[in-house]
Amino acid sequence: MHNFLPIAYFENQFVPFENAKISIATHALHYGTAAFGGMRGIPDPENPQQILLFRLDRHCQRLCQSAKFLNYELSPEKLEQIIIDFVQKNQPTKSFYIRPLVYSSGLGIAPRLHNIEKNFFVYGLEMGDYLSPDGISCRISSWTRQEDRSFPLRGKISAAYITSALAKTEAVESGFDEAILMNSQGKVCEATGMNVFIVRKGKLITPGFEQDILEGITRDSVLTIAKNLGIPTIERPIDKSELLIADEVFLCGTAAKIAPVKQIETFKLPENRPITEQLKEKLSGITENKDSDYKNWIYVIPLE
Ligand code: PMP
Repeated sequence: MHNFLPIAYFENQFVPFENAKISIATHALHYGTAAFGGMRGIPDPENPQQILLFRLDRHCQRLCQSAKFLNYELSPEKLEQIIIDFVQKNQPTKSFYIRPLVYSSGLGIAPRLHNIEKNFFVYGLEMGDYLSPDGISCRISSWTRQEDRSFPLRGKISAAYITSALAKTEAVESGFDEAILMNSQGKVCEATGMNVFIVRKGKLITPGFEQDILEGITRDSVLTIAKNLGIPTIERPIDKSELLIADEVFLCGTAAKIAPVKQIETFKLPENRPITEQLKEKLSGITENKDSDYKNWIYVIPLE
């Protein structure tokens, strides 16, 4: 069971979470004409009277970018302010996750983006670890990630997540924690809600945008942190066989943070993961606003 935060933003106002309800005829429910974001916040460990949000600006920019594919113009500044108000109204006391979603809210039959009302809502829930931070097992999915010529992959579009859902259930029902999907070229793409990194011979490698990945904000953060630590980073295609014999593999995303991979299919990865652990520790310090070099990534929201 989820612990939802008590107040949601719905139809242009703040309402109790239970009162935020949509009609069964809502267009987005039928055609997946929606796009969403996901960001994390924590009470400041140094001062519980303030909340720390990680890279709010980037999350809002990406959602507005996604909204363009729905024929919906949304301003990142407006969204940022609504999210700050949302946090202040909810006064969270534990680590939490915010889910803003833009959608075709009109009651309509026939898939289309024109002449249909759009709207957006925001709600939140308490969230601890999404995946075990101590190491997870992954299956290579039998499902392939969509390709950009048939799906707008620069948006975080709800309809795409049928593939993630199929892959996740397939993985879990066959005894694994997570799934890694290949792209239509047969190269490593991403997990069901996380980007993939591997380490080989001290170098950090991750698929580039042309590999049909989502523009992950944690991915971007990890690349920046690694560069600043002097770890060589490379964005390039990764073969499945290279994934299986990597020195280290980890998944990263807002919900999962940095999740080390200990096994892929029948291949066991080395237990020693120095680069993953170094990045994990660094990212965790940054999100707690303990790292003076990354203060501009942290939005400090006072609760009084
Ligand atoms: N890929 C997919 C498919 C995702 O859903 C997510 C989660 N948003 C990610 C990657 C990681 O993105 P981020 O780091 O921005 O959460």
